[in-house]
Amino acid sequence: MSQNYREIRIQSLEKPLDVDKEVLAQLRELKLSRKFIESMKRDAVDCPWVGSTISALKCMGCPYFVRRFKGTIHCGYGFKKV
Ligand code: SF4
Repeated sequence: MSQNYREIRIQSLEKPLDVDKEVLAQLRELKLSRKFIESMKRDAVDCPWVGSTISALKCMGCPYFVRRFKGTIHCGYGFKKV
């Protein structure tokens, strides 16, 4: 079976990246705990869609997000239509 996502390694930054209030509100709607959100604030990925390094928290609300797995984000960009 062929893989329909790419694996993107999660980097841990010294300083957290800014995350829009809308994204944080969206994550709270997903019932993610404040503690979990805080723990992810320094996580970042090189996003193929945006073309730059972004907070991994943004992935959780992205239509291409597949899952977070063992230090990577499984990203469906380029594999699935949204
Ligand atoms: S899931 Fe979305 S935000 Fe995350 S790396 Fe893929 S395209 Fe970018």
